[in-house]
Amino acid sequence: MATNRTFTMIKPDAVENGHIGAILEKITAAGFRIVALKLTQMTVADAQEFYAVHSERPFFGELVEFMSRGPIVAAILEKENAVEDFRTLIGATNPADAAEGTIRKLYATSVGENAVHGSDSDENAAIEGVFHFSGREMF
Ligand code: ADP
Repeated sequence: MATNRTFTMIKPDAVENGHIGAILEKITAAGFRIVALKLTQMTVADAQEFYAVHSERPFFGELVEFMSRGPIVAAILEKENAVEDFRTLIGATNPADAAEGTIRKLYATSVGENAVHGSDSDENAAIEGVFHFSGREMF
């Protein structure tokens, strides 16, 4: 199986609730290598661009407001089968549906404020990584 990369954000709710350390520990304990990492904040325009695929959805305004309201931790992670394995580690979008032990089951509060993002394809992982990091910030 090929080593590849995924992109994640620890979302504003999980940062506000003090879960950065616990979530990074779960990520590294699951075998992901951190190849880029920073605390940053998205502007409203950044969030609108990042989530443009959801612009017609009824929750788009709420999502943009949430994702830009405070700092996030952005990271690029490397592992065999990274995209799929990371989606398994974080669990379903709605924490009520997420499997026991997943990051969203442990730390998410609602379907909107669900603690973490994980890319849904190799292509989007690359696009999302470049959205947040320059070449000098990726190792
Ligand atoms: P995922 O992040 O699991 O890939 P989606 O791509 O469907 O999920 O949605 C992107 C993000 O939009 C979710 O992580 C969540 O923060 C938000 N979201 C999704 N569905 C809803 C909803 N029904 N109500 C509010 N926010 C939502």
